[in-house]
Amino acid sequence: MSVVLVLGGTSEARALAAALVERGVPVVSSLAGRVANPKLPVGDVRIGGFGGPEGLAAWLTENQVSAIVDATHPFAKFIGSSAVTGAKLAGVPMLRLQRPGWQPGPEDNWHWADSLDRAAELLPALGERVFLTSGRQGLSAFASLDDLWFLIRCVDPPQPPLPAKFEVLLDRGPYLLDAETALMRTYRVDVLVTKDSGGTMTSAKLDAARALALPVVVVRRPIRPESPTVDTVEAAAAWVSAQ
Ligand code: NAP
Repeated sequence: MSVVLVLGGTSEARALAAALVERGVPVVSSLAGRVANPKLPVGDVRIGGFGGPEGLAAWLTENQVSAIVDATHPFAKFIGSSAVTGAKLAGVPMLRLQRPGWQPGPEDNWHWADSLDRAAELLPALGERVFLTSGRQGLSAFASLDDLWFLIRCVDPPQPPLPAKFEVLLDRGPYLLDAETALMRTYRVDVLVTKDSGGTMTSAKLDAARALALPVVVVRRPIRPESPTVDTVEAAAAWVSAQ
């Protein structure tokens, strides 16, 4: 019997898997295997890379996949291009499910950066105590900022190279405004660093920064290859049903 493959690792991928299971659609969710103890979606799950676009195409054919939805994180760019090319190679219809990015309000003081390296360059002019919430990958970009202190929040322990002065907070969302505001006050944070992840699970830090009048460095999303795209779980579930 044919199945739908959901490339996951996000809350909307889990929501989509649940919606498809509820509709009686056979679904397999795929995770990269980066997180030691991931939140698992309902339905079948496979873990680990496919071996590039060709490996993904072979997997789609072997497993009689009728449709693929790339619901991976906006910053997971390699699996995004694998999904487009692998689906084309295997002749399987493909959809991108991507949550909209965050937008600043009139009271926000946001500084956009095209990369983590650029975010690191901006920091010394913005403050000495940095709340770094960009995730575990790519922290080496901040490793040479010896004069700054970092509160690094991520799901699993970060690997060196890391900045000289830091504290690690292992946690995962969802986060709430009061707790985020209290955390930033307690650690006397001057500036927040985040990726433009979008969604509501982790957006309370932006509201807290606004309430405390703190600057925010926001890393822009990487460019992904063109593909049909929707921004809600409902639209993705409807697309799957139409295949
Ligand atoms: P990436 O750089 O695009 O992926 C690197 C390689 O990991 C891919 O080429 C692929 O290996 C494998 N991979 C990635 N996602 C996969 C999936 N869902 N299923 C099977 N294999 C996958 O991705 P990343 O930035 O390391 O992110 C990894 C996962 O974490 C993603 O699934 C993403 O949704 C989730 N995540 C990422 C972030 C972030 O900020 N990057 C944040 C939250 C969650 P092969 O080439 O061998 O197939």
